[in-house]
Amino acid sequence: MAKIIAIASQKGGVGKTTTAVNLAAAVARAKRRVLLVDIDPQGNATSGFGIDKNTLSSTIYRVLIEGHSVRDSIIASDYRVDVLPANVELAGAEVELAAMEQRETRLRDALDALTQDYDYIFIDCPPSLGFLTLNALTAAHAVLIPIQCEFYALEGVAQLMNTIALVQESTNAALTVQGVVMTMYDGRTRIATQVVEEVGNVFGDALYKTLIPRNVRLSEAPSFGQPITAYDITSRGAEMYIALAREVMKREEG
Ligand code: ATP
Ligand code: MG
Repeated sequence: MAKIIAIASQKGGVGKTTTAVNLAAAVARAKRRVLLVDIDPQGNATSGFGIDKNTLSSTIYRVLIEGHSVRDSIIASDYRVDVLPANVELAGAEVELAAMEQRETRLRDALDALTQDYDYIFIDCPPSLGFLTLNALTAAHAVLIPIQCEFYALEGVAQLMNTIALVQESTNAALTVQGVVMTMYDGRTRIATQVVEEVGNVFGDALYKTLIPRNVRLSEAPSFGQPITAYDITSRGAEMYIALAREVMKREEG
């Protein structure tokens, strides 16, 4: 049975997509069968795997809104990761879902058919707590929260935790927090070490030991349509996403 992990935060630019793409690639490298679901109209996880957003015959939009076959919409990337792609078409889904029945369970229902086909399904969420993210949190077994190492790191985290609690009370009682990952960590700065300590005080053991460093290779890789493990396996970014993948798999598999 696939473990379904949503990578979520309503804060923009904290490293959700970078984590989704590179964690998915690192877990696939460890010989697990991996699907990455892009549920963000920006489609950055889709292009991050070298898939052209503009020539897609089917997308997550068609699956969620038109009931199109999920299997027919999946694309095999060149990096051992299958991708259920998204593009700007999905922007309309937020409003369309609001008017639909089962508006929070449509992704779960779609992914149901795939749970034997994969070991891990990662979902890259948009920076909002709207119906797309609610669909991801409803479909998921666990949520992985990236927090950027910056002064306002914990701002908005309470609202995210509230949303997780609401989902637990309504559509998905079994939802857990897989963990919290610090991103864009720069150990030379005092603020970074302070923020890690502060987040550790709030989340305890849920905070992964692996800190994702600020690494220029990580920011370059998407423009080549490659995960970091393909773009530069020797980089610190690759090393740390491989370490994060080990922690994530250990929490799921023991
Ligand atoms: P959005 O909320 O818009 O979906 P996001 O949370 O998915 O954003 P990313 O797109 O992963 O965030 O990252 C934001 C920007 O920061 C990108 O330009 C990305 O390349 C860069 N970035 C992310 N993580 C790192 C890192 N560890 N080192 C260097 N640059 C990074
Ligand atoms: Mg993103």
